[in-house]
Amino acid sequence: MSLMLYNTLTRRKEPFEPIEPEKVRMYVCGITAYNYFHVGNARAFVVFDVVRRYLMWRGYAVRYVQNFTDIDDKILKRAVAEGSTMQQITEKYIAAYFEDADRLNILRADAYPRATHTIDGIQRLIHELEQRHVAYAADGDVYYAVHQFPEYGKLSGRKLEDMQAGASGRVDVEDDADKKKDPADFALWKAAKPGEPSWESPWGKGRPGWHIECSAMVRDELGESIDIHAGGMDLTFPHHENEIAQSEAVTGKPLARYWLHNGFINMDGEKMSKSLGNFRLTRDLLANYDPMAFRLFVLQAQYRKPIDFTADALDAAENGWKTLKEALQFGSQFAALPGWSRTAPTDLDQEAVDRFNAAMDDDFNTPIALSVVFELAKTLIREGNQLVHQGKPDLPVEQLQQQWQTFTRLLEVLGLDSLVGTISQETVLTGHLTDRLNDAQIEALIQQRQEARQSKNWAESDRIRDELKAQGITLIDQKDGITRWHRG
Ligand SMILES: [Zn+2]
Repeated sequence: MSLMLYNTLTRRKEPFEPIEPEKVRMYVCGITAYNYFHVGNARAFVVFDVVRRYLMWRGYAVRYVQNFTDIDDKILKRAVAEGSTMQQITEKYIAAYFEDADRLNILRADAYPRATHTIDGIQRLIHELEQRHVAYAADGDVYYAVHQFPEYGKLSGRKLEDMQAGASGRVDVEDDADKKKDPADFALWKAAKPGEPSWESPWGKGRPGWHIECSAMVRDELGESIDIHAGGMDLTFPHHENEIAQSEAVTGKPLARYWLHNGFINMDGEKMSKSLGNFRLTRDLLANYDPMAFRLFVLQAQYRKPIDFTADALDAAENGWKTLKEALQFGSQFAALPGWSRTAPTDLDQEAVDRFNAAMDDDFNTPIALSVVFELAKTLIREGNQLVHQGKPDLPVEQLQQQWQTFTRLLEVLGLDSLVGTISQETVLTGHLTDRLNDAQIEALIQQRQEARQSKNWAESDRIRDELKAQGITLIDQKDGITRWHRG
């Protein structure tokens, strides 16, 4: 079975066929850097991180690009409010983005273009739109003439004649309505206002509108047509509609084959307003909940469905994560079993993998995929308890190891990891998710240390302990002579 994904553009599930076989070019709209990102943004980043990981798991080489909007009215307002500059505000919140996203175990993108670093590409695109008579200059501004693009509205399903004045969204805050030929037109370039950052341009000093930056960054980083363009559902209109209008009017090619949009986190639940009212920012939430519990909370819903943000739901996710961690914690004891292979085996439980893949192939049905992972966890916990209390597991060691290996690999595909923060960027960027110290390798080092201790080679024993510590692994020497370990 092949991967089927729901395409907002066609409003149906379609088989996934990238432009180039085995290669995926994917673009996700990133944050506007004027604040910490909220839990709704976090859902999008987690969901599309899982899409990316799953594509990698299925053998695709994924180039993943996510932008930072670093010039915007909101940023300028924040700079005034904080008595600071646009650059200081954006640097602060871009750094904060990485801190929070890393904690959520979101793989780093291959590129993080910024609007202010893309001014040339933006101006080139606007110039080409002008040449094609789809854009017009008006007193230092440049607007996109939506009536010149017959397909305008094809993504969101909106009809131009139904669109009201002001429908072009947040750029309108600064737009001069009387400069527009049509109320539905939107700004590509805005004339400089006193005291605001600006760039020289053929239209005078000014700065780019919001939508044009993504069109320019997609083109600069990934080319004229990409495979997947993604973002929150709220970006469908006007942002993505306008991106299509800008890019396709110039290239005549589809900007993206597949448009993916995740559902909202419903913040209006009564409980939330009382108990979780302060946790709308991801950073505040993570001060109170394990990041992996939040990740699990997100993945327990299919990505297009709304989720209710309630304390009960988060607590349930935290319990679920505890179960998965409990299964993970038996790893060292299993690995000490005679017959456990020191080199990680490559064969997985194919039946479990098939069910996991079938769920994910169905438009990333993570709740079903998770049920496979939880079944594996339950088996491992049962076997672990058996080992602790009866001295040996029920399952033959090879089979137990296969279950273990399958469990940890599938967790990795979902980005659920008790090892967060220790994956090297190099590993991530080369796409080799498994290149880090795995459980078997840790056990091998513990074994070596055990041997060193037996021959009273304390220096070697300490060296191994320190080496593991540097990898974020803590050893606990128990009275019974067994060394347990945990990550973090
Ligand atoms: Zn965008």
